[in-house]
Amino acid sequence: MLIILVGLPGVGKTTFSKNLAKILSKFNIDVIVLGSDLIRESFPVWKEQYEEFIRKSTQLLIDEALKKYWVIVDDTNYYNSMRRDLINLAKKYNKNYAIIYLKAPLDILIKRNIERGEKIPNEVIKKMYEKFDEPGKKYKWDEPFLTIDTTKNFDLEDIAKKLIEKSKKTPKYEEVEKNNNKHNNILDEIDKKTRKIISEYIKSGKIKKDKIKDIVELRKEFLKKLKKLNNIDFDKAIGEFKETINKNIKNENL
Ligand code: ADP
Repeated sequence: MLIILVGLPGVGKTTFSKNLAKILSKFNIDVIVLGSDLIRESFPVWKEQYEEFIRKSTQLLIDEALKKYWVIVDDTNYYNSMRRDLINLAKKYNKNYAIIYLKAPLDILIKRNIERGEKIPNEVIKKMYEKFDEPGKKYKWDEPFLTIDTTKNFDLEDIAKKLIEKSKKTPKYEEVEKNNNKHNNILDEIDKKTRKIISEYIKSGKIKKDKIKDIVELRKEFLKKLKKLNNIDFDKAIGEFKETINKNIKNENL
């Protein structure tokens, strides 16, 4: 069984993981809590360039542990692509998975963050809170098994029992790769292609230097809107992108 925690810093993931693991072990379940902080905190300092290694090695640890044990992933798992990678690991070993979404109001997260010495700037937590894509909003496979408000009381024993019940069921995850990968692949292709179009326009002088910033912004907005669609057609999207840019350039030249 793979238990994927999702929640912003300070929501209570580490506390929850440790307590849940203790209760599960009382039910004779061999469970391990893993998360990227284990590796991250093994470096004396933090650098962005370590992050790729941190991500990969955490995945390797989870991969290895899943062969033998229940795994609780104590991480923010902020993007649904992170959740998808984890679910694909469960799939690899034919294991069940459960997303547990921990939530708390922003003021509580900030309060807890300050109490911990504000290692993460409050501003970062605010931004994460605003941008956070709640699990299950876009994809069925991403729906939380449980959503827990950590400002309220919750019964860990009851949660453990529910997880044990779930672990006995046949896992279902067919839709994960099909839908999402196709969608993401097209988005990746469109991302690359639109970058290329802009750089060609700049090289050819079609976009004036002082307008580059606007066009870059336009591309971002375009991709954002596209992401919200269920079905994306590559050619149609690229056509629309060119049209949008051309219109913008023409208006500037009038
Ligand atoms: P995270 O792993 O999500 O960053 P932690 O488990 O480290 O969160 O908890 C952050 C802070 O909030 C800690 O000081 C912890 O003691 C406190 N905390 C955790 N869970 C709760 C809870 N259910 N109610 C109140 N405070 C909590």
